[in-house]
Amino acid sequence: MNQAQDSSAPRRLDWCECSDPGCPAHLGLSSCAREGADILYRIDMEDETGTAMCEACAADAFESGVFYAE
Ligand SMILES: [Zn+2]
Ligand SMILES: [Zn+2]
Repeated sequence: MNQAQDSSAPRRLDWCECSDPGCPAHLGLSSCAREGADILYRIDMEDETGTAMCEACAADAFESGVFYAE
């Protein structure tokens, strides 16, 4: 599988890409089935593409302190 992402193309907000099984929005699951509401970026690495997240996941991601919104 080629998972390369085209970082030159603007991302569409599609589906939540949260993959944290400890996330309270989908506790115990490593994926979220909601619609994306925000694109968040990691602060601990170079993140040009960002991660689409629904509101619930974005709120938790902010709390974790690992993500920021542009
Ligand atoms: Zn989500
Ligand atoms: Zn989540």
